[in-house]
Amino acid sequence: MTNTIHFASPDETDFAQIFSSAGVGIILVNEAGQIEQANPYAEKLFGYSAEELIGFPVEKLLPAHFRSKSIRYREILFRRPEASTNTGGIYHQALRKDETIIPVHITVTRYKHNDSEMLAVFVNRIISQFHDQEQLLMKEQSIRLFMEHTPSAVAIFDKQMRYILVSRRWIEDYQIHTADITGVSHYELFPDVPLRWREFHKRGLAGETLHCEEDSFERLDGRKEWVNWELCPWFTYSGDIGGVIIFSEVITARKQVEEELRKLNEQLEEKIVERTLLLADALDRAYETNEMKSAFVAMASHEFRTPLSAILSSAAIAERYTEVDQQEKREKHFLRIKSSVMHLVDILDDFLSLERLEQGKIRAEKLVFDLEEFMQGIVDEFSEILKKNQVIHHKYSGDAEVLLDKKILRNIMHNLLSNAIKYSDAPIDLKVDVKRQQIRIQVRDRGIGIPAEEQNNIFNKFFRARNAAYIQGTGLGLNIIKNYIDLLGGAIEFSSHEGEGTVFTVTLYSNHGGRQLLIDEAFE
Ligand code: ADP
Repeated sequence: MTNTIHFASPDETDFAQIFSSAGVGIILVNEAGQIEQANPYAEKLFGYSAEELIGFPVEKLLPAHFRSKSIRYREILFRRPEASTNTGGIYHQALRKDETIIPVHITVTRYKHNDSEMLAVFVNRIISQFHDQEQLLMKEQSIRLFMEHTPSAVAIFDKQMRYILVSRRWIEDYQIHTADITGVSHYELFPDVPLRWREFHKRGLAGETLHCEEDSFERLDGRKEWVNWELCPWFTYSGDIGGVIIFSEVITARKQVEEELRKLNEQLEEKIVERTLLLADALDRAYETNEMKSAFVAMASHEFRTPLSAILSSAAIAERYTEVDQQEKREKHFLRIKSSVMHLVDILDDFLSLERLEQGKIRAEKLVFDLEEFMQGIVDEFSEILKKNQVIHHKYSGDAEVLLDKKILRNIMHNLLSNAIKYSDAPIDLKVDVKRQQIRIQVRDRGIGIPAEEQNNIFNKFFRARNAAYIQGTGLGLNIIKNYIDLLGGAIEFSSHEGEGTVFTVTLYSNHGGRQLLIDEAFE
């Protein structure tokens, strides 16, 4: 059956109304392929005005590669009236004025008007709906392909947190062994999902978009995993929330490397601090050694002058006593030379013991001896060098036998007594008391005393108080005996008033270990 339109009653007004209000594009084409008429819908569809369309070659409304085929088809329709146009239409593409191509559904019908044969072309929007479905299908396929191949871990959930789609990476990252997880609840699959994450899912399902750069959770087997995630809702066509999409990246390996690096850095920093301290210490020591050397040079250049000039002058004088009967005079000067040399040796000894003490090279060697006898010997020795008006009042009480390092004790007594003699002109008291292994030695003089503001420094190396400047000395003695006393586990203290005198009190212990041992023994 031919599909020619015959209006039962050719009412032009009705036709015009249908023509202009139809929800389909209608184009009337003459045998030459020119457009005779086009309705408003067609104008809108193709983007041309009515004036532009009249006389326009209809094939120009098709993409170029369809035109020749269309011309042939049109010719057949006009030449062979029996050719059916009742094809149910075809899905085609149309070219708009702005050169965009749109999918259309076309139906062609022959039409007789004023004895002229025409074609009525109906361009239908229904094609567009079909296209939407096709697009939808394409979109869905792309999403599936994307999910399959994306290097990210992505999962799409419905409102009950059941899996709709999941990327391969997600399956790998979360070590999912279920063959098909579509429709499976996330919480069934991971009963160890932390509560706060369930909370985040709820918030996402309520419309919030959330993300976290670094998050951790503990697996049921106790392993700690780190993830970086983003969660957002997805919407249905009707605008309702259909579920959530979660993008995540398991960053446990990266975190472990970071953690290792952090630990390494910490260790490195500790090492640097340790080495810097060692270096600073070494520098300090080098500086101190340097300081000490310059202090020694300063002291030596001052202190060596007197004995050296004494040696020089006595040697020169002794040289002149050539006669036999001048032996006594010669001896006097030889003695002076000897004592000056001894003094020099003493200074050098002091300096050497100081170095050895500081380097920890000196060890205490304790032995049992009679302290009372020892002290008497020292007092006798020193009475030889007492000044006029000076006398040593020696008082001893308690046990006579002690266990001590004799050499060290001699050094201590030597320093304290020679200072008392040197810095005073009056009698000196020496009190020794031994009680239950504790030895207290007190040396009191009535001399120049130590200025109050300088008392804090007197155990420092090379320190000399201002009121002692004109009296010979090296400033080493007290420092050395303080080191010795520390070595023996004892203590030294003093009390002094300028112009009145000084009392030094030394406490030592007659045992192998000093004060600590005494305390331990008391508890036995
Ligand atoms: P030196 O006596 O050789 O200078 P010391 O180390 O023995 O060195 O003493 C340090 C300083 O302490 C002395 O220079 C002096 O100023 C002060 N001093 C020590 N003993 C006494 C004392 N008995 N009376 C006054 N001052 C003293």
